[in-house]
Amino acid sequence: MTVNAEKSTTDVPSWQDLPAAQQPEYPDQAALREVVAELAAYPPLVFAGECDQLRSRMAAVAKGEAFLLQGGDCAEAFDAVSADQIRNKLKTLLQMGAVLTYAASVPVVKVGRIAGQYSKPRSKGTETRDGVTLPTYRGDSVNGFAFNEKDRVPDPERLKRMYHASAATLNLVRAFTTGGYADLRQVHAWNQDFVKSSPSGQRYEQLAREIDNALNFMKAAGTDPAEFRTVEFYSSHEALLLDYETALTRVDSRTGKLYDVSGHMLWIGERTRQLDGAHIEFASKVRNPIGIKLGPTTTVDEALTYIDRLDPDREPGRLTFIVRMGADKVRDKLPQLVEKVTAAGATVAWVTDPMHGNTFEAASGHKTRRFDDVLDEVKGFFEVHKGLGTHPGGIHVELTGDDVTECVGGGDEIFVDDLHQRYETACDPRLNRSQSLDLAFLVAEMYRD
Ligand code: PEP
Ligand code: MN
Repeated sequence: MTVNAEKSTTDVPSWQDLPAAQQPEYPDQAALREVVAELAAYPPLVFAGECDQLRSRMAAVAKGEAFLLQGGDCAEAFDAVSADQIRNKLKTLLQMGAVLTYAASVPVVKVGRIAGQYSKPRSKGTETRDGVTLPTYRGDSVNGFAFNEKDRVPDPERLKRMYHASAATLNLVRAFTTGGYADLRQVHAWNQDFVKSSPSGQRYEQLAREIDNALNFMKAAGTDPAEFRTVEFYSSHEALLLDYETALTRVDSRTGKLYDVSGHMLWIGERTRQLDGAHIEFASKVRNPIGIKLGPTTTVDEALTYIDRLDPDREPGRLTFIVRMGADKVRDKLPQLVEKVTAAGATVAWVTDPMHGNTFEAASGHKTRRFDDVLDEVKGFFEVHKGLGTHPGGIHVELTGDDVTECVGGGDEIFVDDLHQRYETACDPRLNRSQSLDLAFLVAEMYRD
């Protein structure tokens, strides 16, 4: 067969018998087995060769020659698989990417939290309302958001819906990014609109003008590179549900190696990164580029052990540490990790997730984040790397292209009292379109300081 005809795994995987945190409790195990067998026969969502290509892009990030922009919903939802929502998200990421490319003067590797981000780890297993206790919502791949027994019981059929929702999303993303929609000149024109029309945008006029001049100069010089017309864009999600990820893990016939073909890049979350757990073992066996979220309790020993387990060959691009310490802790906790990892000779990519360490509950009961805290964590992350002479490799953010009111602050300011107006997230609060563009322009300004 052809080179991309991945086969299903036949051996019992080494992670199968290890403790796996945060897995749903399916009442009907036979139904689960049936679904998993069906999924294992479905075609791959991504080609293993694309995962290799992303690994080489991430190698440039790790070596200080590129910057990662990774973003999207906290939790994708089945009923949000629409052309508008996918386009708005992509458009926002592309706009951020254009600003960052100019400011950083290095390629920006664009990776969506998209086409597979349907599963959520939760700190509590149950939720009680008016005396009724039901399983917590764990993402559309597991159960329903509505608070009733029928929706909240984990249903394995949802794993198939996740596959199909991911396939439909990825198909549109591929069409948009290669079919002409994402032309850099168009993306820049959207940024000019933002600068003109948004109250916060005016602060960025200078930067937008410089980008304009650069594009005009290229045009005058008669250049029209193919790179302006299409965009390399990758998918990523948290590899949480091991039944699903295992079913989508295949032997690549080109290399004989295992790849999880549910997405290009996978990450292991803060709640499932136990060294003796199934998630880390799983990640160590697949060739995809892997991220690990590092919270404020991460020890130097843990970080070094992740490197030994996941990147024994010290291959730049293989491993990304996604740091989510919180704005008040990053300056304190991050330096020793970066220092010791660097001293150990590992070339990992360092990326900041300035969202998950800065969540709090507003008086209204909404889970939210302050834009200023998000920005401050990014600043702290940059400061630490500057101090150590290492590379701040990128940002990992929860965002949407829509005008939601989930995080407070930003140039077009959202107040605590506004939160109820358009609070649409199924899980954590996301930056809205304007806050996301603010963040990109402000990170761009950090490059100038
Ligand atoms: C997330 O990325 O949505 C998430 C749950 O993050 P973390 O594992 O860092 O808490
Ligand atoms: Mn989240």
